[in-house]
Amino acid sequence: MGPVGAVVGGGQLARMMAEPAAALQIRLRALVEAADGAAAQVLPDSPVGTPKDIADLRGLVTGADVLTFEHEHVPGDHLRALQAEGVSVQPGPDALSCAQDKLHMRTRLGELGVPCPRWARIDSPADLESFAEQVGWPVIVKTPVGGYDGKGVRVVSSAVEISDWMADGGPLLAEEKVPFVRELAALVARRPSGEMRSWAVVETIQRDGVCAEVVSPAPGLEPGLAEQAEEIARTVAEGVGVTGVLAVEMFATAEGVVVNELAMRPHNSGHFSIDGSVTSQFEQHLRAVLDLPLGDTAATAPWAVMINLLGSDLEDPSTAYPALMARYPEAKVHLYGKAVRPGRKLGHVTVTGDDLATCREKATAAVAILRGENPSEEQR
Ligand code: ADP
Repeated sequence: MGPVGAVVGGGQLARMMAEPAAALQIRLRALVEAADGAAAQVLPDSPVGTPKDIADLRGLVTGADVLTFEHEHVPGDHLRALQAEGVSVQPGPDALSCAQDKLHMRTRLGELGVPCPRWARIDSPADLESFAEQVGWPVIVKTPVGGYDGKGVRVVSSAVEISDWMADGGPLLAEEKVPFVRELAALVARRPSGEMRSWAVVETIQRDGVCAEVVSPAPGLEPGLAEQAEEIARTVAEGVGVTGVLAVEMFATAEGVVVNELAMRPHNSGHFSIDGSVTSQFEQHLRAVLDLPLGDTAATAPWAVMINLLGSDLEDPSTAYPALMARYPEAKVHLYGKAVRPGRKLGHVTVTGDDLATCREKATAAVAILRGENPSEEQR
């Protein structure tokens, strides 16, 4: 009947694992926050619960061949306990801790000799001031745990601007503000037995701290930089012992690349691979965590452009399908079954082809239709 996979989290990432799981006859179930959420809609065998409760995790993994994740907010102690009970936890808790805590991540990356922005642990306003004396204001300050989509990241010009975070107690991470030319991501998948495969390095475009657009491969990336970025991803995957997909977000500067952060799961920067690669990051993640041979990561077209649908004026963006599909038959549309809220990641569109500008134009226009912007009379 095929292997059984258990995934923590009920959002769009678990949902997008469902399609390759079905194709490969992997029985996938998710521990979901709500019975009608993005993943639960397509994975019928999905219990509602929280990874903070080990009983919920135990229920999820009963009879499963592997436990994996679509987010990293899972207590390491629970995962160690499950491992001791014989559960295959992929990635394991030690690797995962580098994606859970940005201070820990910076320390580990330093040990691995991976280039990072200059950084410091901040326990007091004085710590921030002395760090700023070295690197200059403004400084980037981050909450080490729990941030996502730019929440938990501030650009500050004085210690007063983080007094609320200081009052919450707990250390903060300060980083120099990197004068980056653009942002890149290197994705690699690694099996427990060590096999690794990477995709071509992509460019990611953030707006208001949220990923808006991804271009694969990163346009005009010098081969040396691409090699460096890919090598960093492999070094981290191996050095930290990551299994499954690892996404390494990076800043490209005039001098080379520095690592921003890590995700140990399929990542927004890899969504293009569903339509733009022989093997998608979702299929690869499942293969990797089940320790199956990895799939070909070659591109299916010279370019792939992925654009996120962030909020919509339509109550249900799928009502725009007739207009969108008539106008852009080449657009690959992915909606996540989520209720519309301003700025919320509701889906994405990927267009692949021979010409980057055309792909970008079509993907942008297709997403605009999903947002409820009226296509012109002629387009309708
Ligand atoms: P999150 O965990 O919320 O995704 P990130 O650490 O990725 O937060 O930061 C979000 C965005 O903030 C980045 O994509 C980048 O645009 C900007 N940013 C983060 N760190 C730095 C830095 N050290 N220098 C310059 N910009 C940064």
